Amino acid sequence: MTVLSADKVVTPAGVLEPGWVAVEDGRIARVEQGRPDHADLHGRIMVPGFVDIHCHGGGGASFDSADPEECARAAAFHRARGTTTLVASLVTAAPADLERRASVLSELAGDGVLAGIHYEGPFLSTARKGAHDASLLRDPDPTTVDRLLKVPHVRMMTIAPELHGGMDALRQVRDAGALPAVGHTDATYEVVREAARAGARVATHLFNGMRPLHHREPGPILALLEAPDVVLELIGDGVHLHPAVVAHIARTAGSGRTTLVTDAIAAAGMSDGEYELGGLGVEVNDGVARLTGDGSIAGSTAAAASVFRRAVHDSGIPLTEAVRLAATTPAMLLGLTDRGAIAPGLRADVLMLDDDLGVQRVVAV
Ligand SMILES: [Zn+2]
Repeated sequence: MTVLSADKVVTPAGVLEPGWVAVEDGRIARVEQGRPDHADLHGRIMVPGFVDIHCHGGGGASFDSADPEECARAAAFHRARGTTTLVASLVTAAPADLERRASVLSELAGDGVLAGIHYEGPFLSTARKGAHDASLLRDPDPTTVDRLLKVPHVRMMTIAPELHGGMDALRQVRDAGALPAVGHTDATYEVVREAARAGARVATHLFNGMRPLHHREPGPILALLEAPDVVLELIGDGVHLHPAVVAHIARTAGSGRTTLVTDAIAAAGMSDGEYELGGLGVEVNDGVARLTGDGSIAGSTAAAASVFRRAVHDSGIPLTEAVRLAATTPAMLLGLTDRGAIAPGLRADVLMLDDDLGVQRVVAV
């Protein structure tokens, strides 16, 4: 048995100050208030490992590479920074390439390195393409969708519901047991309401890559906010969204249906310079990644820990709520009932943070 203690332990029931956790066989056996007689490790703040459901790479490595070693490196980069559960996102590519890339990721998911695969394209709106290659965007057809879904460990697919065949594709994803996500969309309010009825479960980076909210045409944003079964992704890197927006959504939609994501690309953790995302050139300046072509923001250079830290420091979200946004809610969305909180019976995926919420230690199964 291993005993981990901290000045603050963030549990679903509140913060234990101080508190400790006993770990046995990779599981949390006990969670207690107070100081233990003996601790194998003591830290300042203990939180569950982060769960990131939207991430393209990091540490110079990309999940689009189709290279198992490079993909494992990207996962290891984020794991060392506190993401103990990670869904790998693939940007738009030709279906055959996507299938090939997903198969590589599927092996890593089978080994427990990844928690699943997310196809962010190619069924997206050209008007809201963001950093996706417009020439490869297409309408969904049942055969292609089926081919992509057949790869084991596919957990999510982002679709612009206004595309020809978009609604049927959302239902097809749902029926296959994966999460239909709405994003990179120019749809009207009404169309996205229909998408929610068709089973949409996720808003792919709410606000970014979608028609903005307008008082005469509220568009996808209001429709997604109003859909109780939809979990809202927020890119909390301080670039994609104003911290007040993150605070507002976390408060109004609630931490039970809001999750922080990084949308990180290979440039995360690297210096400024030239990178690539799905075959498109990306330039990173002051940590902000933009397409070399049209200047669109091209994902983030953040790790989950810095997104978490911003949520607390910049958006003023209380620690317990920030933990829900960064771990509990995304784990629940993925159906992973064995993690996402510090509670007896769950996996001992635990982080020790310093006073400034920097990751000091990653203790994970
Ligand atoms: Zn993305």
